[in-house]
Amino acid sequence: MGLNYDVAIIGGGVIGGSIAFQLAKRGKKVVVLEKGKIAEQSSGAAAGMLAAQVEMGRETGPMFQLAIQSRAMFPQLAEELRERSGVDISLINKGMLRIATTQEDVQELKEVMACQRQAGHFADWLTGDEVRKTEPALSDAILGAMYIEHDGHVLAPELAIAFHKSAAQLGTEIREFAEVKSLLIEQGRVKGVVTHEETIRCEQVIVATGAWSGQFMEQVNMHLPVYPVKGECFSVITHRPLLQSTVFSHGCYLVPKRGGRLIVGATVKEHTFDRKVTIEGVSALMERAKRLLPGIAHAEFEKAWAGVRPQTEDGLPFLGEHPEHRGLYLATGHFRNGILLSPLTGVLIADLIEGKEILDLNIRPFQVSRNVTV
Ligand SMILES: Cc1cc2nc3c(=O)[nH]c(=O)nc-3n(C[C@H](O)[C@H](O)[C@H](O)COP(=O)(O)OP(=O)(O)OC[C@H]3O[C@@H](n4cnc5c(N)ncnc54)[C@H](O)[C@@H]3O)c2cc1C
Repeated sequence: MGLNYDVAIIGGGVIGGSIAFQLAKRGKKVVVLEKGKIAEQSSGAAAGMLAAQVEMGRETGPMFQLAIQSRAMFPQLAEELRERSGVDISLINKGMLRIATTQEDVQELKEVMACQRQAGHFADWLTGDEVRKTEPALSDAILGAMYIEHDGHVLAPELAIAFHKSAAQLGTEIREFAEVKSLLIEQGRVKGVVTHEETIRCEQVIVATGAWSGQFMEQVNMHLPVYPVKGECFSVITHRPLLQSTVFSHGCYLVPKRGGRLIVGATVKEHTFDRKVTIEGVSALMERAKRLLPGIAHAEFEKAWAGVRPQTEDGLPFLGEHPEHRGLYLATGHFRNGILLSPLTGVLIADLIEGKEILDLNIRPFQVSRNVTV
């Protein structure tokens, strides 16, 4: 068996794709191994929000910095991916409204805004009337909203595909229907991977298996606390767009895409890989969506789908080398924000593989050693 590749990436989602793209740009010989098809799991189900400020709440530490820095990469990335792959990820920057429907929400969001402003990030408060002036189709019941100008969105499946196509254009080999069954480990160092068909030797292996990461690590006799969280979504089409900005509220968000398409998400069900779309899930979303945006009741239903997010016990992703096995890297556990965090995750993992020091971000909270037991 010869040394076939520099790096083998397990998992063909947005995270595996972003890492492949960055490594390929640095001249590495990379293979991506995907057990199904590229971008068909969580990355293909996501609504594509880049909710760096809207999702993070009062947290302005390393996770917030990760999100902010990754969000900032999108404008240039969108251009680069279009040039290399021909895929338009449809980056839309029309801001995001985080809605308050009770006085407690108002209080909470004003506190969040204060934290984020203190950390140097723009956040504005709109009264209920101001919200409806900006977005006339929104409900009278809305008391106000935190407005974040820079939180936009992309087409998530297209982003994942664009990463893989761009990596392939730079020489990366993408193999679909290639499930990795085990790892080759010799004297504490990873030497390759074993699929159902072959053994591939390489210098580094990256586990980017999303919600299956806990299961996969168990299979190779290591423990990693990553578990699945199911989410259901649906979309509608309207002749004239009902919204310009993305609207985010308790248990429901509305993301206006091009062509009058509106994505409504998402339910949350922990510890299941089941991807069935249920009447219970979709009808609950429809009720919440109608309360925010009454006019959606007359929109044409397009489709519904479900995906499985990768969550960790402490809510932070695992980004880095395994403490016991040299050359084995983890890039997983991005939960609700894997689309947002994918550009920077790719750069960080590529930097770590090249032995570069990470200077502009504290990555210690994301280290694999923080609570992995071997
Ligand atoms: C309904 C929904 C809405 C979401 N909305 C947003 C959003 O608006 N914004 C945002 O930032 N994030 C969002 N997310 C989260 C985001 O989708 C995820 O965080 C992200 O896609 C995770 O990417 P990944 O590459 O780690 O996982 P995945 O896309 O799931 O990719 C992992 C891949 O690994 C493969 N794999 C697993 N085991 C093996 C093996 N042994 N061998 C080979 N391949 C294997 C799987 O088949 C899969 O294709 C949403 C998620 C859901 C479900």
